Amino acid sequence: MSPCTCDPLLETKNLNVQYGNAHVLQDVTLRIDDGEFVGLVGPNGAGKSTLLRSLLGLIDPSNGEVCCCGRPVHRFDDWTRIGYVPQHAVNVDAKFPASALEIALLGRVAKRGLFRRWTAEDKQAANDALARVGIDHLAERPVGTLSGGERQRVFLAKALAGNPDLLLLDEPTAGVDMSAREDFYNLIDGLNHEEGITILLVSHDLQAVQLCCHRLVALNRRIVYDGSPEAFDEEGGISRAYDMNVSHHPERTGAPP
Ligand code: ADP
Repeated sequence: MSPCTCDPLLETKNLNVQYGNAHVLQDVTLRIDDGEFVGLVGPNGAGKSTLLRSLLGLIDPSNGEVCCCGRPVHRFDDWTRIGYVPQHAVNVDAKFPASALEIALLGRVAKRGLFRRWTAEDKQAANDALARVGIDHLAERPVGTLSGGERQRVFLAKALAGNPDLLLLDEPTAGVDMSAREDFYNLIDGLNHEEGITILLVSHDLQAVQLCCHRLVALNRRIVYDGSPEAFDEEGGISRAYDMNVSHHPERTGAPP
């Protein structure tokens, strides 16, 4: 296997991850370039979160390689370039004692260090991040008193506060209602198109991913599809990803029966 020589934002080469005897990721080779908007789909247990956590260097592979910005992940240290919204981030306790601004400020830790006082620059960056996601008016509100959609934006603001080049979003719309979900997809679409932020979005919402992403990757322990969202159905991506026997529906494509 050749080492990482190029400098895409993210790259895995023949990545294998095991938990005990269970092979969760097998031979995953993936490259994400600057400016892309990639949707990652697959059934429960397919290894999507494991892949994101591997990309962040939180899990050691049993084999293969992960590179961030052309460097092996264990030697990569510029974590301000990558913003991460983990699964279930919105499920904070109603009594959680932090305001929206304080949560957004935590996104500055990679830049500032854990035990340093916040500077005026940090506070400005956190406020700007709240404004970028449209909730700067909620800066002082305890996060536990916000709606699911508003909380989701707070955690997106936290990921944006370090001014990353890349956002990794793990099921960010789980647990929020349909209208908040739509607003959220519009918001991240704008971050990609207008601000040029590269996005890797893990979602169960196949339809939304097909609508807003430029590239769709389907994972079922291995990569079973990597290509255009439009061609996913026609090329049998659903059946490969979800282990289903899906027939091609002519009415969806306008093809004759
Ligand atoms: P997905 O995000 O696609 O639902 P995950 O990456 O969360 O999938 O999980 C893939 C598989 O790995 C599942 O079978 C899950 O139970 C297992 N798994 C996840 N985390 C751990 C862990 N820390 N220890 C053991 N098994 C795990």
